[in-house]
Amino acid sequence: MKHKRVKIQISGIVQGVGFRPFVFRLAREKRLKGYVCNTSQGVEIEVVGGKVEVERFIQEITTGKPPLARIVDFKVFSLPSLSYSDFTIRESISNSDRSVLISADIAVCDDCLRELFDKDDRRYLYPFINCTNCGPRYTIIKDIPYDREKTTMQPFTMCKPCAAEYHNPSDRRFHAQPNACPQCGPHLTLHNGEGLPLPCANPIQECINLLRQGKIVAIKGIGGFHLAVDATNNFAVALLRERKHREEKPFALMSYSLQEIERYAFITPAERIHLVSKERPIVLLKKKGDSEISPAVAPRSRHWGVMLPYTPLHYLITRGNFLALVMTSGNLKEEPIAIDNEEAIGRLKGIADYFLVHNRAIYLRSDDSVLKVVGDRPLMIRRSRGYVPVPLFLKREGKEILACGGELKNTVCLTKGCFAFLSQHIGDLENLQTLDFFEYTINHLKKILEINPKIIAYDLHPEYLSTKFALEQKGMKKVGVQHHHAHIASCMAENQIEEEVIGIALDGAGYGLDGKIWGGEVLLANLKSFRRVGHFCYIPMPGNTLAIKEPWRMALSYLYALYGERLGQLKLAFLERLDLNKKKLVLQMIERGVNSPLTSSCGRLFDGVASLIGIRDYNTYEGQAAIELEMIVDDRIGECYPFLIKTRGNTFEISPLWIVKGVVEDLLAGMPPSFISSKFHNTLINIFKDLCLQGRKRFSVNKVVLSGGVFQNVFLLTGLKRALEEEGFEVYTHSSVPTNDGGISLGQAVIAAAKTS
Ligand code: ZN
Ligand code: ZN
Ligand code: FE
Repeated sequence: MKHKRVKIQISGIVQGVGFRPFVFRLAREKRLKGYVCNTSQGVEIEVVGGKVEVERFIQEITTGKPPLARIVDFKVFSLPSLSYSDFTIRESISNSDRSVLISADIAVCDDCLRELFDKDDRRYLYPFINCTNCGPRYTIIKDIPYDREKTTMQPFTMCKPCAAEYHNPSDRRFHAQPNACPQCGPHLTLHNGEGLPLPCANPIQECINLLRQGKIVAIKGIGGFHLAVDATNNFAVALLRERKHREEKPFALMSYSLQEIERYAFITPAERIHLVSKERPIVLLKKKGDSEISPAVAPRSRHWGVMLPYTPLHYLITRGNFLALVMTSGNLKEEPIAIDNEEAIGRLKGIADYFLVHNRAIYLRSDDSVLKVVGDRPLMIRRSRGYVPVPLFLKREGKEILACGGELKNTVCLTKGCFAFLSQHIGDLENLQTLDFFEYTINHLKKILEINPKIIAYDLHPEYLSTKFALEQKGMKKVGVQHHHAHIASCMAENQIEEEVIGIALDGAGYGLDGKIWGGEVLLANLKSFRRVGHFCYIPMPGNTLAIKEPWRMALSYLYALYGERLGQLKLAFLERLDLNKKKLVLQMIERGVNSPLTSSCGRLFDGVASLIGIRDYNTYEGQAAIELEMIVDDRIGECYPFLIKTRGNTFEISPLWIVKGVVEDLLAGMPPSFISSKFHNTLINIFKDLCLQGRKRFSVNKVVLSGGVFQNVFLLTGLKRALEEEGFEVYTHSSVPTNDGGISLGQAVIAAAKTS
C-alpha cells in the first residue's frame, strides 16, 4: 500500500466551531495518524496513511466541515514520511501574528434542540443549551484568543459532566466555550416592573402566562433585550406602541415554526431558506389576508417582518403557546438596544410590565438582522446579529483602515488584508448613548480583530458625529469621502468590481461637494474618484430636517417651484387640508431662502409625491411616506409621465417639476393614488434608463451600479435593473451589504484604500 504524509494549513473561521473534533473523527475514520492543532492563523493538520485515504481526507475536510466553519485559505504540503502512533489533538501553537476569525452568534442547532425537548436528557428544557455548532459567540467575547476565560461565561465553573464533554475530542461540546447545564450554567429569573425579583419555580411558564394575559415582558436574548407581547392581542400591541413611543413603524414577529408563520404570511422557497438559516434574520414576508395577527403590528404595510426562534429560550416560550409574539428591540426610540440587566430595568421601566432576565452577561450588543428577498437574492436591510463579524471579501489585499460610516443606521468598517469587517448595526448617531456605543464597538473590533489602523475614512458632512470623531483622532491619515461615492463604492466592493461604472445613487440625503444636500445622483465613478454627471435639479427643503419628518413641506416646495403665485388657483385636496398659517410660513421660508437648504434628493421627491396624493403629510419613522408610496404600486399599470433631462455643460439635470406637474394633472383629473404612484415609479425607471443610455454613449461605460436607501424600494430596484439589462447593461446591486446608509462604511473603506495606495 502506498503511503503519504501531508501537512494542511487552514485559515478562516475554524476555531471554536468544532473543527478539531471534526478533523479528529475524520482522521480516525480513515485510519490516518498524525495530529491537529490550533495555531494563530487557524488550524494545522498533519496526517500519514494510505494515499487514497489521505486524498479523501483532504477532500472531505472541505465538503464535510462543521456548519459554522468558514474556510478562507487551504494549503496542503507533501512531507517525507514519518510515523505517528496515533491521531491526536495537540496543544495550541501560539505565535504573535494572529489571524483567526471569530464566528457570529448562531441559532440553536437541531442536535441541541432535540436534547432540549428530550425528557431523558440532562439538559431537558434548559434554556442555555449550546454546542460547538451553535450558540452565542460575538456578543459574549471580551477578548481573544477565544476561550472561556475571555468570555462572559468565565464566572461559571463547569460541573464534572460538562467538563468531561468539553475535554472529549469526540464530543459535540469539545471546547464549546459557552457549554453549560442546569447544574453549572446560567439561569433565569423573573422580575416585576420595578425590577424586584419574583420568586417562582418556573420563570418560563410564568412568562408565558403573563404574555397570554396581554402583559409586556422584556426578555433578555443574545445581543440585547426584546420587548415581547402576544401579537394576536390588539390591546397589548397598542399598549406597547404607546409606551415605546413608536407610532407606526412595523414590529418584528417571532413564531415557533414555519407552520405557524404560514397561517399569516406567504413564504417563497427562497424566503424559507433565510428564515431557517443559522443566522435567523427577520425576513419581510407578504401578509396573508384576514389573519389573527393584530393589524397594529405593521399598519399600512404589505409585509410582516418575521423570524424563527434562535435561542433555546425563544423555543421554550413560543412552543405550543403563541401563533406569534411581537419581538421588538428593547429600547426607546433612537436609543441603542439595552443589554445589561440593571440598565434594561432602568431604561425599560414603565414600558415592560415584567422582565425575564438571566445571569449570562451580554458583552456586545447586536440587534436582529433584517432582510427581504428580491427575486431569489437576499437584500440586506440591517446586517447585524448572525452575520457580524463574519468578514466580506475584498478583491485585493490592502492596508488596515477604519471607516466611520454615516449618521443614520450607522455601521463602521475595519479592513485587514483582503477582509472587510462591517460592524453590527450601531444606529442613528443622534445621541450620546449611541455615540458611546459607536466608540465602544470600534475599540472592541480593533481589539478582537487585532487591527490597528493608521488610516481613517469619514463622511464629508461636517456635522455628522462620526465625522467629528474621525477628525479628532490623532496620528491617523484622514480621508474624507463623499456620501454617494461611498454608496457606489460599497456596491462595487460587494460585487468585487473596480473598473469605471455609471453609479446611480438615490437616497434621502448626503453632503455634496458643493455643500448642498445631494440624493438623486448619477456618478461616473471608480474607487479612487468620481465625477457627478447627473442629478435632480435643486429644490428648497423648507425647515431643513423638519422637511424630512413632514413630507407636506416638500410637496408645497415642488408646487411653489412649479406654479409660484398661481398656487392659490389650484384646486387640490392637498392644499385645502393644509393649515393656513403653516402654509404661509413655509412659503415665506422658501421665498426668502430661510432655513431652506437646496437638495437634489430622490427621497424627498418620493415624500413630496406621497404627500401630494394624500398618503401622508407627516412621517412617524424614517422613510415612511416613501415606503407607503411603494406599497400602493400596481404593476399592471405601464404608464409614465413625460420627463425632461437638460444638459448643462457636462452634466445632465433632471427636472423633478415635470414629474410633479404630471402628478398634479392626474390629481385634477381624479386619478386614484395607486395609478399615480405606479406612473411615478415607471417614470423614475425611464429617466434613469435614459440617463444610462446617454451616459454609455458619452463615456463608453457599460457597467451600472445601483445603491442608496431608495433602492430598498423593490419595485424601483427590479424595474430599473430589468430595463437596463434589456438594453445590454451589466447591472450590479447590493445583496449582503445594505443599500442604505448601513453600507456606506464599506464604501468609505475601499475608497480610502484606493486613494492611499
Ligand atoms: Zn448545538
Ligand atoms: Zn454543567
Ligand atoms: Fe445615503
